[in-house]
Amino acid sequence: MARYGMVMDVSSCLGCRACMAACSQWNQTPFWAEDFEGKWRTRVTPLEEGKFPEVRKVFFPTICMHCENPPCHSVCPTGATYINKDGIVLIDYDLCLGCGYCIEACPYDARYEYEKEDLEKDEFYFGEDARHHQVHIDKCTFCVDRLEEGLEPSCAATCVGHARIFGDLDDPNSEAAKLVNSGKAKPLGEYMGAKPKVYYIK
Ligand code: SF4
Ligand code: SF4
Repeated sequence: MARYGMVMDVSSCLGCRACMAACSQWNQTPFWAEDFEGKWRTRVTPLEEGKFPEVRKVFFPTICMHCENPPCHSVCPTGATYINKDGIVLIDYDLCLGCGYCIEACPYDARYEYEKEDLEKDEFYFGEDARHHQVHIDKCTFCVDRLEEGLEPSCAATCVGHARIFGDLDDPNSEAAKLVNSGKAKPLGEYMGAKPKVYYIK
């Protein structure tokens, strides 16, 4: 058993969005989404920080926070959203009604709806290997299938800036746990009480 989490080092993010491309290729998700607010399991949003004339651009990476007290889980009427033994919040597509309660409940805007037209495009681009076969709600899984093979999530494995540090937060020797335990990395929106396991370094 592990307690997987990720640390985002915002100052190391180059804004290249290689992580978004790697994620959508691995997970076969809608890379055809027209904007960066759309159907991505991970996003990198450009922001401006500071006041004129001391303004700088930063790139802010986000994913599902794999919360320890996830509101998406408590509102799910069928049990489709569940937490696995390693603390990863997942969705059983067969149980998902597509009601969207979890989309509304998630304070981090981490979920989106996989619609019929997305399935058609998925089949067009990925053919027989297409992973998504039914309408459902979708989000980051920490690439749970890669973890089973001893690999890192595709975004972290691809990140050229080492802005995404993935690891077991219960393993005091992992780089991620060291950053969290030192107090250097902090969660976003702690006051909302969801207990996210994705942390940020400014
Ligand atoms: S791959 Fe890394 S550096 Fe590039 S946008 Fe993603 S988080 Fe930032
Ligand atoms: S970030 Fe949103 S979708 Fe992810 S576990 Fe937390 S509440 Fe659920």
